[in-house]
Amino acid sequence: MIIPKPRKLDEQQLQELRNIVAEFDCSIQVIEGAGQNVYAIVGDERHELMINRIEGLTYVDRVDTIQSPHKLLDIRSELRNHRVVFGGVELGKQLLLIGGHCTIDPKQPNLFYETAHALKEAGAHALRGGVWKPRTNPYSYQGDSKALEILMEASRQTGLPVDAEVMDEEQLDLALDAGVHMLQVGTRNALNYSLLRRIGQRIAGRDTVVLLKRGRHVGPIDEFISAAEYIVTFGNPNVLLCPRGTLPGLEGYRNQPDESITPLLKSRTWAPVVVDPSHSVGKAMYVEAASMAAVAYGADGLCIEAHLDPLNGLGDDPKQAVTPEVFAKLAAKCQAVWELRQR
Ligand code: PEP
Ligand code: MN
Repeated sequence: MIIPKPRKLDEQQLQELRNIVAEFDCSIQVIEGAGQNVYAIVGDERHELMINRIEGLTYVDRVDTIQSPHKLLDIRSELRNHRVVFGGVELGKQLLLIGGHCTIDPKQPNLFYETAHALKEAGAHALRGGVWKPRTNPYSYQGDSKALEILMEASRQTGLPVDAEVMDEEQLDLALDAGVHMLQVGTRNALNYSLLRRIGQRIAGRDTVVLLKRGRHVGPIDEFISAAEYIVTFGNPNVLLCPRGTLPGLEGYRNQPDESITPLLKSRTWAPVVVDPSHSVGKAMYVEAASMAAVAYGADGLCIEAHLDPLNGLGDDPKQAVTPEVFAKLAAKCQAVWELRQR
C-alpha cells in the first residue's frame, strides 16, 4: 500500500505510479479515505525493485507492505483514520441507531411510514426495511420489489437514510438506482465473494455504506474481516461489521449471541462495529439486554428490528421486533452505557 505525501496524487503522478507497477504485472487501486487517499498495489507486491522504485518517487511518503490478509482494514492501515458517517452520525463519536421492519409489507405501506416516523421520534438515525428476504423456507414470503418504493418514500418523509439487504446483482442495481443509502449483506451471503466484489465495484466513488453481517456458521474472525476487505478493495471504505449471532443457537435464543467479539474485531481492524441484537437473540423480550451488552462490549452502533405493530408484521417481526416505545427506552439505556464507556 502506497502512502502519498500529499492528501492525494495528481493525474500525472498516478500515471507514473501505474506505469511502474504495470512493469511488474501489478495495478493500482485508489482508496478514497475521508482524510487521505491511499493507493493499493493489486498483485504480487513483493518485488523489491518495484518497491524501491516507488519509494524513490518524491511524492511518496512510504510503501507499507502489511502482511495481513486484510491489509486495508488492518488496524495498522493508513485507512485507520477513515471515519464512516451515516445518518448524521460519525461512527465512533456517537452511537448509531438503526431501526425498522424486518420485512416491509407491500400491502400495508402506511404501517412502514408510521413505524418510520415513530422511530425517528424515538431517536433512530436511520431506517432498515427488508425488501427482498433470504428465507430458510422456500414457501415463506420472499419479499417484493414494490417494497423498495415504500422504503424510499419513508426516507423522503422522515429525512432518514435507509438500509436494505441485497442478495444478488439485480437487487443491487435496483437498490442503488432507487437511492438506498446502506446496503446490507446478510449472514447467508457473508462469504459470497462474487457478490461482495460486485458491491465493491458498484459503490466505488459513491458515499454508499455497507453493513456486512457475520456468517451464521462460526468462522475465524479474520475470515469476517477479509470478507469486508473484498468490498473495500474497489475504493469505498464505508463498511460496517455486524455481528448478528451464529449457529448453532443457544438453547432458548435463536442464535449464539456474538456481540462479545467486538473488542477482538476492534483490536484487528479500524472498521466500525454495528451489532444486530435482534437476529442474535431472536425474541423481542431479550433485545434490550442484548443491545446494552453490545454497547458495553464496544459497539459503535445497533441495527434493531422495530415495528409499530409487530403481530401484524411479516418475516421476523412478530417474534423479534420491538415497538418504537421499547426502542426509545432501550436507546436511552444504551446511550447511558455508551457514556459510561467514555469514562
Ligand atoms: C434481516 O436483517 O432481516 C436478516 C435476514 O438478517 P440476517 O442476514 O442477519 O439473517
Ligand atoms: Mn429479520
